[in-house]
Amino acid sequence: MSEKNDRATWIKGGQAQCNVPPVPRDKPPRFVLLGAPGVGKGTQAELLCERLGTCHLSTGDVFRAARCLTPEERSPALDAALDYMQRGDLVPDTTVLDLVRERTRCLRCGGGFLLDGFPRTVAQAEALSNLLEREQIKLTAVLNYDLALDKVVARLSGRRTCPGCKAVFHVTARPPKVAGVCDHCGGSLYQREDDRPEAIRNRMEVYQKSTKPLIDFYQQRGVLVTIEAEGTPEEIYERTLVALNGNATSK
Ligand code: AMP
Repeated sequence: MSEKNDRATWIKGGQAQCNVPPVPRDKPPRFVLLGAPGVGKGTQAELLCERLGTCHLSTGDVFRAARCLTPEERSPALDAALDYMQRGDLVPDTTVLDLVRERTRCLRCGGGFLLDGFPRTVAQAEALSNLLEREQIKLTAVLNYDLALDKVVARLSGRRTCPGCKAVFHVTARPPKVAGVCDHCGGSLYQREDDRPEAIRNRMEVYQKSTKPLIDFYQQRGVLVTIEAEGTPEEIYERTLVALNGNATSK
């Protein structure tokens, strides 16, 4: 992703335009990232976006950005969504799907996309398939990051996020150069509310019940690529490139 791309179209929705849209490609890379929360999808998305020059489309980022709006700027549905999020529960499908449909421009974008955190239920996956079919858009692949549950929990509880540029660090596995400070923009790192212990436990249960069935959903459609998510972000990234055989990821 270009450093100047602020993803405004995705984050703000409505008529917002990206500051610097990604460069259109002949075969835009179009990926969905799957895996339990904390498995490292966000970090892999950052690395892949840098390589592919595409956009990281995270539904979680849209909800987090909505928290900064004034109460008058937030719709009742969005207010309710933020309550679900704070508890670590899934936001209702209808709200998420309205939000994604309102951002169909990002799915059509000639620079491609990397969806992270959406779809998260079979109903969302079916709705996405219908939307893509209508737009005559084909997914390049669905990348499924796989890691044992206890390791996922350890990753989540040490995760720290930059509120400014959204970069993700880990207190031990990927520490910033200066504790608590973002390497990229100097922002003060924080622990997301949903990365606190009670919310983590709840998110894991929600993942097992609602999101794990997506592995079968995409396997049956022949687009699933599973990647072992053990090791450093760089190792996982290398494994991703090998799994994709360089084809979809060449510059
Ligand atoms: P994430 O950053 O993807 O872990 O998302 C953070 C939170 O936002 C989740 O725990 C949910 O509460 C909410 N959320 C994000 N994406 C979705 C989605 N596709 N469906 C339902 N809830 C979502």
